[in-house]
Amino acid sequence: ENYKADVKRYDSMQYRRCGRSGILLPAISLGLWHNFGSIDNFENGRGIVRKAFDLGITHFDLANNYGPVYGSAEENFGRILKKDFKSYRDEMIISSKAGWDMWPGPYGNFGSKKYLVASLDQSLKRMGLEYVDIFYHHRPDPETPVEETMGALDLIARQGKALYVGISMYDKDQTAEAVKVLKELGTPCFIHQPNYSMFDRWIEGGLLEELERSGTGCIVFSPLQQGLLTNKYLHGIPEDSRAAKESGYLQKDSITPEKIDKVKALNELATSRGQSLAQMAIAWLLKDQRVTSVLMGVSSEKQLLDNVNSLDNLEFSTQEIEKIEQILSA
Ligand code: NDP
Repeated sequence: ENYKADVKRYDSMQYRRCGRSGILLPAISLGLWHNFGSIDNFENGRGIVRKAFDLGITHFDLANNYGPVYGSAEENFGRILKKDFKSYRDEMIISSKAGWDMWPGPYGNFGSKKYLVASLDQSLKRMGLEYVDIFYHHRPDPETPVEETMGALDLIARQGKALYVGISMYDKDQTAEAVKVLKELGTPCFIHQPNYSMFDRWIEGGLLEELERSGTGCIVFSPLQQGLLTNKYLHGIPEDSRAAKESGYLQKDSITPEKIDKVKALNELATSRGQSLAQMAIAWLLKDQRVTSVLMGVSSEKQLLDNVNSLDNLEFSTQEIEKIEQILSA
């Protein structure tokens, strides 16, 4: 049936400026790493994308190898765009990336110009798009000169195949270098995509400062530590969870009793705030204005709604912040 977006879709979502740029991103964005591949239920994924857009989520994040199989999340997203979003393209920010293993041989991985240019062309075909809004180098490549990789991003932007460019997983020093090279080329570094959650706080060690200094946006991935920072694993590993699925990236043995103790304590604190743990985990990230957007994944529309409702309470008292620190460092 024909999809018509909710007329109220922009009424309650919050938007934040991405670094020193002209673009506002939704405080919560949707990532298609899991749950949108050829092994997944297409209609479930389609429902999630529609629901997200209805809630004011304008940003959808993909990469060449999301699936499984590699490429299939982009293919499925392309089908969804064609079926439902033809008249909404200009209301959407769509991203893709290259940097991890994608095709066999020496040219389907890492950071060469050869790889990035070819990979984006493939992504555009799979999604049925003429351009993406953001194209990322997915991870730093220790072997390829940063000038070549940033040169490829600059080329892609000049060709109009991506409107903005970004980097992912670059550490503080690698980021400073990439930002400098891009600036010299005349294509500013628009955004950085690092992982960040209550359980993984490496970006507090200087990267956030570097992004603020350079006017680069920051969209943080795995905000729920792939589901660990929710009520999902409180009583074991449910069958329908990412940790239980063979294709899921969350390893069963990373769900330790020590972590679950912390999750339980955090869950109690969330309850006292009138939030679910997922909501508190997202709110905790958004209390920092340097975080432009929280990039979450969901396996159902219900999780999506739960997570978006975190925006109802982004305030933390000093006592709550201290309590969280206490739990995390226990
Ligand atoms: P999250 O930490 O948000 O984990 C998402 C998973 O958590 C869901 O699939 C679901 O798992 C569970 N979950 C979400 N909401 C709830 C809820 N309300 N209640 C219970 N469980 C919930 O993020 P992801 O790890 O999925 O990463 C998000 C996005 O970030 C990716 O889609 C991708 O776009 C990007 N990313 C980028 C990377 C990079 O290198 N640049 C690397 C990894 C991700 P379940 O299936 O068990 O229900």
